[in-house]
Amino acid sequence: MNPDILSDNKVIITAAITGGLHGKAMNPNLPEQPEEQAQAALDCYNAGAAVLHLHVRGPDGLNTPDINIYNKALKLIGEKSPIIRQIGNGIGAYIDENGEIKVATLEQRLGLLTISPQAEMHTINAGTFEFRTKLGSSTFNNPLWFNEKYLAGLDEQGLGVEVEVYDISHIANVMELVDKGILKTPVHFSFVMGIMGGIPPEPRHIMALLNEIPDGSTWQVITIGRYQLRMTVMAMTLGGNIRTGMEDNIYYSRGVLAESNAQLVERMVRIAREIGREPATVEEAKVMLGLK
Ligand code: ZN
Repeated sequence: MNPDILSDNKVIITAAITGGLHGKAMNPNLPEQPEEQAQAALDCYNAGAAVLHLHVRGPDGLNTPDINIYNKALKLIGEKSPIIRQIGNGIGAYIDENGEIKVATLEQRLGLLTISPQAEMHTINAGTFEFRTKLGSSTFNNPLWFNEKYLAGLDEQGLGVEVEVYDISHIANVMELVDKGILKTPVHFSFVMGIMGGIPPEPRHIMALLNEIPDGSTWQVITIGRYQLRMTVMAMTLGGNIRTGMEDNIYYSRGVLAESNAQLVERMVRIAREIGREPATVEEAKVMLGLK
């Protein structure tokens, strides 16, 4: 697919407010509990975000697969704003008291299909690889059979899906799901760049990934860490959608912690408008992402 640099289409801004691994110890402004998440979601919505990407934490601040906490967070978020709620189906990892990385099991991840009230959309992850960060590493297990089962569960409930690809080979896995009729087109891609073990955050890699996806797909760039701002601005310039938020970067600028997720969204809205793109509203994003 060619990038559409002349496009004046709306840009969907997703706010990934919490993430799975780092917590308040790294940035005290990171929302962890459902009440804080609901307020952050409202603030991001008011700032111009259309999608809220969610992971939840237990009372101890650690990542958790606890469905009751998902239910509570989604309910509170939905009561405060109409922002599209998106569940990260990786759930995430955390470091336990012994310094060991704990990851959610595939069974726990399938449990996300039982959330009630359900989120409007979920993400799936298109390949298995070694997910490495400075905080630790783990195998991010995403076998094809698991994605088939998960997609069937989403389809049954009429829920939307965004597909996270961390490397170019993952796009081949996605196309296999499309060919089998399990994943419907247009596919909504996220190119996740900058996680060690996945594709590095290089401009030429955005072009390589774009070359592999079918016409009509939507796409966004998610970049983790210090190159996040530059890579997401580049994606926006090329006609893609973008994600921001403290899951991806706890800093506003070098050495300066972000004050809030909304502060990060506000910056992306300013940049979007400066380059002639307007943030998609929730209603517009629902049409673009094929959500009911
Ligand atoms: Zn996530």
